[in-house]
Amino acid sequence: MLNRRDFLRGVVGAAALGAGGAELLAAARRLPWAALAHRLSGSVVLPGDRTYAEFALPNNLRYSALRPAGIAMCKNARDVSAAIVWARENGVPLVARSGGHSYAGYSTTSGLMIDLRAMNGVSLDESTGVATVGGGARNGDMYQFFGNRNLAITHGRCPSVGVAGLALGGGIGFNMRAHGLTCDHMVASEIVLADGTIRTLSGDHDLLWACRGAGGGNFGINTSLAFQTFDVGKITVCDLVWEEQPERVLAVLVEALDRAPRTFGSKISAKAPTSSSGIQIELLGQFAGTPAGLHELLADAYAIAQPKGVVTMDHYWKAQRVLSEAGLPAYYQERSRFFDQAIDHRAVAVVFDWLRRYPKTAKSAAFKVFQTGGRVNDWKPSDTAFVHRQSRWLAAIELYWERDTPSDTLRQNLEWQSAFYEAIVPIAKGGAYQNFIDPSLGDWKSAYHGANLARLEAIKRRADPSGVFTFRESL
Ligand SMILES: Cc1cc2nc3c(=O)[nH]c(=O)nc-3n(C[C@H](O)[C@H](O)[C@H](O)COP(=O)(O)OP(=O)(O)OC[C@H]3O[C@@H](n4cnc5c(N)ncnc54)[C@H](O)[C@@H]3O)c2cc1C
Repeated sequence: MLNRRDFLRGVVGAAALGAGGAELLAAARRLPWAALAHRLSGSVVLPGDRTYAEFALPNNLRYSALRPAGIAMCKNARDVSAAIVWARENGVPLVARSGGHSYAGYSTTSGLMIDLRAMNGVSLDESTGVATVGGGARNGDMYQFFGNRNLAITHGRCPSVGVAGLALGGGIGFNMRAHGLTCDHMVASEIVLADGTIRTLSGDHDLLWACRGAGGGNFGINTSLAFQTFDVGKITVCDLVWEEQPERVLAVLVEALDRAPRTFGSKISAKAPTSSSGIQIELLGQFAGTPAGLHELLADAYAIAQPKGVVTMDHYWKAQRVLSEAGLPAYYQERSRFFDQAIDHRAVAVVFDWLRRYPKTAKSAAFKVFQTGGRVNDWKPSDTAFVHRQSRWLAAIELYWERDTPSDTLRQNLEWQSAFYEAIVPIAKGGAYQNFIDPSLGDWKSAYHGANLARLEAIKRRADPSGVFTFRESL
């Protein structure tokens, strides 16, 4: 039988290990997969099976070389329980996979991947407005379910992101300033614990508190999540791009949005220059008002230069089409920091200084900010595990590259990203977002969890005493 260290060295994709790799692969094949399959109402997918390559792939292709020895395709909480128990009996590390969009590939393993994609149902209790979502449902399943209804929760822009991963780490979206984070709407959850027991969490249960923002993969596997929905109607959305005077536009936009009502949700991207274009500013916005009202809010930016793009008013779910992103698999790294204070002219100057230094040799890069505040900050840091309750913006520096980007070029670009990040940290003053999980962070425990860390660690010790749910940045 394989030991844990063998697994951590990597079982499949182990061709790179030469003859030793083949041995590991053979040993993984000797595991009692048939016994696992027998215990599941779902199925087991192994290397070589038709669907293996598709199911094993993470969204961040940077981590695609690490492949699971096997995948348990679970249909319900009992399957998840059986998979956990089987993995423990056989000394196989395990990981949960919902949407597979972990920035750091943390739903990838060399052991057993517990895949929840079949558990993607969404239902609604009409009398309470509470929606229950399967542990493997994705944003797209929710969009489809709510598409003809005047209801929503705070959700992301990318249809293939898992609702579980999103909610367990907080969940930012254009609704958060008016209604709070995704985790703020979570009223209950079913979870399978390290010993295979299935629990329903509600009320003031410590584990529910922890599941509301401490990040996925830490305490157990959440097989369903229940959210209190809110009403939505017609909204105005925009996708606007300024190509002229980008530095002035960014400075003016952040000031204007600082004054905007909570019903305005936004993301601003300052896109790094390429060989054919200069720095551009893109504003994605959602406003519970009219196009004229949105124009008025942005008047100072319009006065600098006329943006290209679209401003339109529509039913909430139709309007989301303007804001959504495909989020297809790619090679990338994101680094985040909350701004606990205004983004002033000096901060904008630092951002532009670093954008101008971008080597222009990766695929693309950008500095982006999501406006936080509003309802997000009506909660105290200790009310849920999501501790970042005093921020005004969440900033992230994104870097995308290609499969064939030479390693020296990649290193140079990652160094640029790190230096840019180090310049932002002292200005931003906040922590880092646990859902933009970042393998380059040194102080990640305090950056993600701040004053909630000690309570979270105590809960972790009780819920998972033998560290079944362990990954590089787990509690
Ligand atoms: C293209 C893209 C767009 C994004 N947009 C947004 C956005 O708009 N707002 C936002 O807040 N974030 C956004 N994110 C970040 C996203 O919320 C996190 O990456 C989130 O963790 C992804 O969840 P997932 O289920 O897709 O990922 P997975 O990789 O499946 O899971 C992420 C982590 O949670 C664990 N996990 C998965 N399912 C469960 C479960 N059921 N129970 C317990 N643990 C589980 C995994 O083991 C892993 O550690 C985006 C990410 C990408 C790549």
